[in-house]
Amino acid sequence: MKTKILLPTKENINIVGRALQNGMLAALPTETVYGLAADALNGNAVKKIFKAKGRPADNPLIVHISELEQIERFSLVRQIPPQALLLAKHFWPGPLTVIMPKGKAIPDEVSAGLDTVAIRFPSHPVVRAVISAADRPLAAPSANISGSPSPTTAEHVFGDLNGIIPYIIDGGSCSVGVESTVITLCTDTPCVLRPGGITPEQLESILGRVDVSDAVLHELKPGQKAESPGMKYKHYAPKADLILIKSSDESYIDYVNKRACDTTGALCYDEDVSLLNVQAVSYGSKYDYASQASKLFDALRQLDNTNLKTVYGRCPDTTGLAMAVYNRLIRSAGFEVIELA
Ligand code: AMP
Ligand code: MG
Repeated sequence: MKTKILLPTKENINIVGRALQNGMLAALPTETVYGLAADALNGNAVKKIFKAKGRPADNPLIVHISELEQIERFSLVRQIPPQALLLAKHFWPGPLTVIMPKGKAIPDEVSAGLDTVAIRFPSHPVVRAVISAADRPLAAPSANISGSPSPTTAEHVFGDLNGIIPYIIDGGSCSVGVESTVITLCTDTPCVLRPGGITPEQLESILGRVDVSDAVLHELKPGQKAESPGMKYKHYAPKADLILIKSSDESYIDYVNKRACDTTGALCYDEDVSLLNVQAVSYGSKYDYASQASKLFDALRQLDNTNLKTVYGRCPDTTGLAMAVYNRLIRSAGFEVIELA
């Protein structure tokens, strides 16, 4: 199959909207990462997403809408919890996914057999225009091969899915850079299953108490059930062995420089680069969590273009937006963290 990269003109948006109506796939820019979209109401179309990505069938997909009324019009949920309306008022359109009781129109392929469904109303004008052109909700996970870092540019998508999908719309770099925050309203207390662009603090300011799932910051214990199936898989892993170092600035620089050799590198803050004697890729400023989120996946992909075998990464903070960065990096590192005094 030849993969076409299209600019987001009105004509191309209509071409891709029709292709989606006909059960084909398309990669689309969103404010979080690029998504690999299919008609969410067509189980056979959705199956193609799992095949293209090599995604485990038990990992459910997020359903994307471009107007709130689509939730009722397409019977996406059984009932809309009042808290969902509050969240929608404050954070939609935007990088927040809300899990609600599944409606009758959702095929099992989308929800991976669960009784719930994840809904997101993205803010990016291109994905919204395509949903509206297709006039149906779109199921869309990140447009990468399963296990590799999520794509934040059309080039990243092409690198992973060239020859496998018919269309990529190039909308430039994604502004948020990490996937959406996932919150479930199907538990007694609302619970964050995956941190993202909307922080737990922001959610608490609207909902009152919000829990954060154990799996967000810690490795699941053997036999422990993942509330969000995606959390149990190794993810975002670069080819090099990535080890996170939790320490002060000085100790990190000292630790890495003592181990300097041709095949050892660093995944660090902007401020560290000039102090390191190894090949260093930066994932943003120590003082700017938003820049870390937006650069992280590109930095992980840059590591794959080197011959580095061992990479010492700076362990991010866990507060605010940095929680989303930490959640991704700890998985990239297979939960390997060295804590220095
Ligand atoms: P992705 O689309 O690849 O960014 O991943 C979507 C994330 O949302 C994965 O971690 C899924 O496991 C999670 N997810 C989607 N639907 C549900 C659901 N109904 N219940 C719990 N987690 C979900
Ligand atoms: Mg993904």
